[in-house]
Amino acid sequence: MSNANFLDPAIWPASATRSHSGEIVVGGVSVSELAKKYGTPLFVFDEADVRARARAYVAAFTVDDVATKVHYAGKAFITTRIAQWVHEEGMGIDVASVGELEVALRAGIDPNDIVMHGNNKSVSDLTRAVEVGVGRVVIDSLIEIERLNEIAAKAGIVQQVFVRLTVGVEAHTHEAISTAHEDQKFGLSIASGMAMAAVDNILECDSLSLAGLHSHIGSQIFDASGFEIATHRVIEFAVQIRDRHDFTVSELDVGGGMGIAYVDGDDPLEVSHMGKAILDIVRSECARVHMPVPIISVEPGRAIIGNPGITIYEVGTVKPVELDDSKVRHYISVDGGMSDNIRTALYNAEYTVTVANRSVGEVTAASRVVGKHCESGDIVVRDAQLPTDIRPGDLLAVAATGAYCRSMASNYNHLPRPAVVSVKSGKSQVLLRRETIDDLLSLDAGIS
Ligand SMILES: *Cc1c(COP(=O)(O)O)cnc(C)c1O
Repeated sequence: MSNANFLDPAIWPASATRSHSGEIVVGGVSVSELAKKYGTPLFVFDEADVRARARAYVAAFTVDDVATKVHYAGKAFITTRIAQWVHEEGMGIDVASVGELEVALRAGIDPNDIVMHGNNKSVSDLTRAVEVGVGRVVIDSLIEIERLNEIAAKAGIVQQVFVRLTVGVEAHTHEAISTAHEDQKFGLSIASGMAMAAVDNILECDSLSLAGLHSHIGSQIFDASGFEIATHRVIEFAVQIRDRHDFTVSELDVGGGMGIAYVDGDDPLEVSHMGKAILDIVRSECARVHMPVPIISVEPGRAIIGNPGITIYEVGTVKPVELDDSKVRHYISVDGGMSDNIRTALYNAEYTVTVANRSVGEVTAASRVVGKHCESGDIVVRDAQLPTDIRPGDLLAVAATGAYCRSMASNYNHLPRPAVVSVKSGKSQVLLRRETIDDLLSLDAGIS
């Protein structure tokens, strides 16, 4: 088999291989068997790989001298089983809505291991969080402080909270950018004084307890430099709190956003190195200001669930399109698209795609994998080299679609959202069943 058949383990699920016939096999199950049993498009998760990545994250943050917590950012993709897997491997769960909270509760996660985020948590969101006993609520506005204090008082509890700081640092992939203006909706700005106002207010609230500080600087972060600048600013802020209120911050949540490889050349810091780097940064910053090292939390989402998940599509049509420079691009249409993967349209995200049901021939052409939606921006993989002999009925596999694909899926064009299955030791199981058109019609109030 040619090089084009190689499944780079940095990008594909750990168990993904090609069989003798060249077909992709994940968790011991062939993709054509999965497609036949569950239909396409189909999300397939390698359970052992999800668990291994969760375990590796917990291990990377398990040290003798510092207490740590690792939370799975459920917004990347959560089902009850996935919540159970990562919880069994030692992770708590971050939720960003009541919907995500209910999944974690349904999975039997101890509410105390759940952290609730969101820049606009309603009275009913916060009431539910307090009622079930969510461990930490991350405060994201001054208005929320009053709202939550009242709810906690009514419930007769003291709610532990974090303050989400805007530190003026943004990290994407290789660069950490310090931004003077902080023109975005999340967090409370240190520079503007809003963050300190929040601390002042929380410390006055009888039913809130300031557990710690939180910052989250971006996504697809490949090295620790952004965490270094952010942590420096957060610890400086903790010093201000100490000086102003004689109050020592006992927890520090450095957020998530640790990057993964989507395509050849993506080179994120390995998890054990990222863990060590973050712990070292916090230790040295605390030593500098003579502050005890707080409990450190991290919240990876994509880094746990991204690579263990792939999408299987069936090819429907193939169309050579002549470009301006008389070159040709093959448009390969699949049976899903922007409704199951919006990231290409939304972020210009890049993906790795290959033929999945057989080995790939040597002769390839510039290709674009597109969906079936009524939108020219409905692109799954913008630039791919795919064999010229691709035909209707072939299966394609797109790698690293475990995070922010099914979780961001829509019903555009009234397409039912795909099923999600997991594979392990030659067996498959459904995590989320495929939606049906009847499911969609059941929402329609009708005409009578
Ligand atoms: C999105 C988000 C995360 C997870 O981001 P990943 O890129 O999936 O690791 C963690 N914390 C917060 C506050 C977030 O908003």
